[in-house]
Amino acid sequence: MSEPKTCAVCGAPARAEFAAPQPEIAPDLDMRPGEPARSTLPDWIAQCPRCRAAAPDLSALPAAARSIVESDEYRALGTSGLEETLPFRRWALICERTGDRPQQAEALLQAAWAADDAAAMTDAARRLDVLRRAGLFDQAAAWAKLLAAREQGETGRLIIAFQQARIATRDIGRHLISAALPPPSATPHVSHGKRAQPGFWSRLLRK
Ligand SMILES: [Zn+2]
Repeated sequence: MSEPKTCAVCGAPARAEFAAPQPEIAPDLDMRPGEPARSTLPDWIAQCPRCRAAAPDLSALPAAARSIVESDEYRALGTSGLEETLPFRRWALICERTGDRPQQAEALLQAAWAADDAAAMTDAARRLDVLRRAGLFDQAAAWAKLLAAREQGETGRLIIAFQQARIATRDIGRHLISAALPPPSATPHVSHGKRAQPGFWSRLLRK
């Protein structure tokens, strides 16, 4: 076994660089890889749970990364924009400040793909709610099954399970997203970083 990796900025344990599966389907015009590589996008950039550094390989970050990660500009990234695009925007800023423009451009393109995916999931989940409330339970159940297979986040899973339970009881009522989620005190995992925020799910029912 090789040495366990650590974050080059703060020394926290870091995962090995993610190796996406080879795409079996041709890429899009914007060169986004086909499936199955495509669905692994959320795993491409690792984020350090301690110092918030972001990179494909945290152990390979240059020494210059520390001052970038500690900068106000870097911190501000976490308070704006889509949660799903944050790792890519953080990595892009590190690339920009260390002069790696091609890598920066690639990271920004990947951020756009992540935003695309988040929007698609929001539409998909909204469609599930619409089908159920219209009483189209068979279609809703089929759609929920598809979504459940795609959704990897804890919050998303809870919401899909909640919808499935409503579908099973032929409930066409309107429900608040809070009904599907346990109270914050019951979810210690939310401090773990990746997909910790409800992200696009929280935007769903916030009108
Ligand atoms: Zn770190």
